[in-house]
Amino acid sequence: MNAEHPERPDEDPWDVFQEGARRGELLLRECGDCGARSWPVPWMQRCHRCLGADTRWLVAGGTGTLYTFARIHQDYHPSIADRTPYPIGIVDLAEGARTGRVGLLVEPGATLRAGSPVAAEFREAPDGSTIPWFVVR
Ligand SMILES: [Zn+2]
Repeated sequence: MNAEHPERPDEDPWDVFQEGARRGELLLRECGDCGARSWPVPWMQRCHRCLGADTRWLVAGGTGTLYTFARIHQDYHPSIADRTPYPIGIVDLAEGARTGRVGLLVEPGATLRAGSPVAAEFREAPDGSTIPWFVVR
């Protein structure tokens, strides 16, 4: 625990998630009390379902199905201006967790639609971090 902020842990789950991504691992939180699995949220140590504190890390296989998607037409950053419009989405992982917003890569000839099978690939972001993208096959 953080001495200045007792409710704020020293370890940010999002930092652990990104360390896993650099190793090519997609990490999820798993609750020891109710069994729920969840996408990590910055500074959220407790289970999203029961608020239990007995959570641990689980290495996910990185496959799932596309739950929903949108296309971004706004140039939010010069490093990706040549990619607009680009798709983002939310993925239901095979382990039962739903991701937060993730980038989507669509292979030529593939159709982007809810229910499409996807798989995670790890790529370096413009800021030097490694993030998972999901490839729609
Ligand atoms: Zn729980």
